Amino acid sequence: MTTVTTTAPAADRTDAERELLARVPTGLLVDGVWQPAADGRTFAVVDPATGETLLDIADATPEDGVRALDAAEAAKRGWATTPPRQRAELMRRAFDLLLERREDFALLMTLEMGKPLAEARGEVAYGGEFLRWFSEEAVRIGGSYGVNPEGTGRATVSHKPVGPAFLITPWNFPLAMATRKIAPALAAGCTVVVKPAELTPLTTLLFVDLLREVGLPAGVVNVVPTTRAADVSGPVIADPRLRKLSFTGSTPVGRTLLAQAAQNVLRTSMELGGNAPFLVFADADLDLAVEGALAAKFRNTGQACTAANRFLVHEDVVDEFARRVTARVEAMRVGRGTEDGVAIGPLIDDRAVDKAHRLVTDALDRGATLRTGGHPVDGPGTFYAPTVLTDVQPGSDLLRDEIFGPVLAIRTFRTEDEAVAAANDTEYGLVGYAFTEDPARGQRLMERLETGMLGLNTGVVSNASAPFGGVKQSGLGREGGGEGIAEYLETMYTLTPDP
Ligand code: NAD
Repeated sequence: MTTVTTTAPAADRTDAERELLARVPTGLLVDGVWQPAADGRTFAVVDPATGETLLDIADATPEDGVRALDAAEAAKRGWATTPPRQRAELMRRAFDLLLERREDFALLMTLEMGKPLAEARGEVAYGGEFLRWFSEEAVRIGGSYGVNPEGTGRATVSHKPVGPAFLITPWNFPLAMATRKIAPALAAGCTVVVKPAELTPLTTLLFVDLLREVGLPAGVVNVVPTTRAADVSGPVIADPRLRKLSFTGSTPVGRTLLAQAAQNVLRTSMELGGNAPFLVFADADLDLAVEGALAAKFRNTGQACTAANRFLVHEDVVDEFARRVTARVEAMRVGRGTEDGVAIGPLIDDRAVDKAHRLVTDALDRGATLRTGGHPVDGPGTFYAPTVLTDVQPGSDLLRDEIFGPVLAIRTFRTEDEAVAAANDTEYGLVGYAFTEDPARGQRLMERLETGMLGLNTGVVSNASAPFGGVKQSGLGREGGGEGIAEYLETMYTLTPDP
């Protein structure tokens, strides 16, 4: 059976936790100044492992959002004309300092989001890498010069910062989702307004304070945490001074924001939901497939856009795969992310627990078999037992919806065509995973799977140097890699006559 540790009461917060929380800014950052919300309102940020309030922070008003855009607009020329090397060095200092303070950032993420501390440390490494990668890209923004085909003119193509950008982030990767947007924007020479998720704003607040500390000029990065997301973002998106919207979050909210952005024909990047297929072929290395499955499913307690949502396993190997996976899941320890050896932290809130349980119940009602888990965990905090289901039947809701919890759901297939058709049978197209020892099959899958990314014999695809993003209703644009900085650059072409 899965080991469930009772979460300790809030009163046992350690000195290190208290001291760290005391250092987190609790205001809005507008034009380099930490300040309260215009109407003085605050909101509570809660530890999902205990239900305890960690901090009360300023709750930005629509007026604050517009003031933040005023500041980004005022700072835009200065930042755009700052030499790329200078921008790069500043970002590199931020990377070094972030890694120096790795333990602080990891602990803060675990406190506000719940992920196990070891994973939070991994997120500092991953999130930090965007600062290093894009500091290196900042000095490589090139262009081209060429003779036109008629030989009558010279074409110069150059790139310049798109202008003030509005960055909206989700709660599940509090640091990496912020750095994945802020770093390419800064490298490109854009100023920004950041609206972090209201469930996990603390990491962003501590991070932008670090940017201030390394010398980022006032107004280049502004932050407006708020519980009034639609009210604050509406006027910012409608403002003609804004030139770019980058959003990571759910597909329904992404659609709404795209409609708003259309009014000003705003440049957008949309990193939306996923419904990743995880294919295990009969020729797969099962040791590798099991490791990949655990990483792709249970990282972040299943709360990742890249989380494997549908396991499609060849009927010849399904019994062995399910047996091995179930044994590993039963050995997982559930508990507070700060405790040693915990693999499964809390879900973000009650709604997430209810959703996971509703999807599991629906699958069982339709004929799935429960191998382990399948229930919420009692006590303080919002925990769900890690779950394995086999014989999941077509039509089950969890094959269509993002589970966003620690539930591994297995179906079988017989032929490659059947597997590919099932994998593509979704409105989403963020990432897929496939395990096969046949290189030709791997090649065919690269061509046939309708996803923006593919993990071939690996359960983790994220890397700062690679273009992360989806097709279909998983979004538009890419973050990371050379493509990541292009999202914040405008292309200009100048024609001059034959000299
Ligand atoms: P969400 O869409 O509820 O919220 C995301 C952000 O949008 C938050 O900051 C929220 O405050 C804000 N928001 C919500 N409604 C808004 C509105 N009407 N106007 C303006 N802003 C609004 O998503 P979430 O629950 O925070 O995150 C989970 C979702 O994010 C999942 O669907 C997941 O797949 C997706 N996600 C995608 C990626 C990716 O890279 N593709 C990465 C992480 C998460």
